[in-house]
Amino acid sequence: MQSIDKFNFAGKKAFVRVDFNVPLDENFNITDDTRIRAALPTLKKILSDGGSVIIGSHLGRPKGVDAKFSLKHIIKHVSELLNVDVQFANDCIGEDAGVKAAALQPGEALLLENLRFYAEEEGKPRGLADDASDDVKKAAKKAVKESQKEFTKHLASYADAYVNDAFGTAHRAHASTALIADYFDTDHKMFGYLMEKEIKALNKVLEAPERPFTAILGGSKVSSKITIIENLLDKVDNLIIGGGMGFTFFKAQGGKIGDSLHEDEYMPLALEILEKAKQKGVNISLSVATVAGNSFSNDAEQKLCDTHNIPDGWEGMDASPASLENWKEIIMKSKTILWNGPVGVFEFPNFAHGTETIAQYVAEATEKGAYTLVGGGDSVAAINKFGLADKVSYVSTGGGAMLEAIEGKVLPGIAAVEGKPYK
Ligand code: AMP
Repeated sequence: MQSIDKFNFAGKKAFVRVDFNVPLDENFNITDDTRIRAALPTLKKILSDGGSVIIGSHLGRPKGVDAKFSLKHIIKHVSELLNVDVQFANDCIGEDAGVKAAALQPGEALLLENLRFYAEEEGKPRGLADDASDDVKKAAKKAVKESQKEFTKHLASYADAYVNDAFGTAHRAHASTALIADYFDTDHKMFGYLMEKEIKALNKVLEAPERPFTAILGGSKVSSKITIIENLLDKVDNLIIGGGMGFTFFKAQGGKIGDSLHEDEYMPLALEILEKAKQKGVNISLSVATVAGNSFSNDAEQKLCDTHNIPDGWEGMDASPASLENWKEIIMKSKTILWNGPVGVFEFPNFAHGTETIAQYVAEATEKGAYTLVGGGDSVAAINKFGLADKVSYVSTGGGAMLEAIEGKVLPGIAAVEGKPYK
């Protein structure tokens, strides 16, 4: 496989798919530019080699051309960060993009308009009436898949090489994230530096973890973590289950959980997971007690309850000191740790203690030499909130992509560059 570090971009044009899907305020100011900064090493390498870049990204979820989601809002900031006057094309496959991409000189950068202004990027028909017949839907799908090929080919025609640095969309088989790779030979397609880092982190944990390997799973629902749990049962030595999802287990075991979050229909599956873990020799550690509140609010009255004996009118909202002690022992002995999901309602400062403590344990374990990966949505928000992001081995930038990877799914954005099959 080609590697970005070895490739000499001098005199070459590269189409770089990045994830510049940054949050904007009502005046279109960027409120968090982490994703732009994450792609800078890749863009700078190409430019400093004497290459030029055609940058493609999506922003938000537009359903067609929509000024609110224009990437022109970020052009000034990207130029400042890159220290290059980045040009902007107000389309992706129209005249503006074509002319500007063709005229691009070494050291120059061009940002295309939001790729998702085109239905072809996602390959899904738009504007179909809710009551459209199956035949109409099928025909529309076929049509957009056909025009997607032209769209993809057009994007590819701008460049000599394709670089995918958009881990945040690696779980999508879109035109610019996966399909485009087919138009470049093995020597001319590669991952960017961010993508390389993400893949290395995933492999370290999922392919060849140093043992003991512990996964810490939290969050609200068992239903959204089932596939993850099932995949992890084949890999981990310890599985810590905290947060709201624990209560489905306690209820299934015959416990009294008061008003705690739970999913009745997942109770049989919860018991099955416990049984499977036993068979596979995985040590599952559930919480033993919980800090319950008498309403779902920061100011709720607090009471420490046994997780199997929570009175009505009370709900488990944070991890208890006893559970944290148990988990500390497991975490400190681990050599590889994967953390996904808060172990309490950490958005309420009065119920954030458990999640903050877990973040501290993970940081301490890292200091002691463990490899620690924090990934997926809220746990990333939590580790940032507690200021410990630089005290763990790696914090993933891709929420959905990271989760799908932990579920054991093939990520199209990775597979396409590797020349492997994907759906
Ligand atoms: P998820 O998106 O499934 O990872 O869930 C994250 C959410 O789970 C966060 O917003 C937390 O506030 C929430 N959460 C964690 N523990 C609990 C709990 N015991 N009760 C209710 N919500 C919880």
